[in-house]
Amino acid sequence: MAVCKFCGSEFDKKHNRQMYCNEYCSKEGEKENRRKRRSKYYHRYKNVMHEETKYGLGSGFLSMHRHEEDIKELIAVENEMRRLKIKA
Ligand SMILES: [Zn+2]
Repeated sequence: MAVCKFCGSEFDKKHNRQMYCNEYCSKEGEKENRRKRRSKYYHRYKNVMHEETKYGLGSGFLSMHRHEEDIKELIAVENEMRRLKIKA
């Protein structure tokens, strides 16, 4: 006797890895599983995704062109490195 992972009712296993009592529960259960997996993934990588949105491509403060004066370029680069928490 096994317990259906979806509806919780008892059923006889037809094969060893069977987790649901019928096709309906199997389908719905798998759907639920996928949803849970996706939300787990989301929660695990939430912070990473957040950083990516914050510091994604094209979000840099450095301009396409170099500053005329070296000191300004240096300050811009240093500011950018501090912002991105890069240590030289
Ligand atoms: Zn069931």
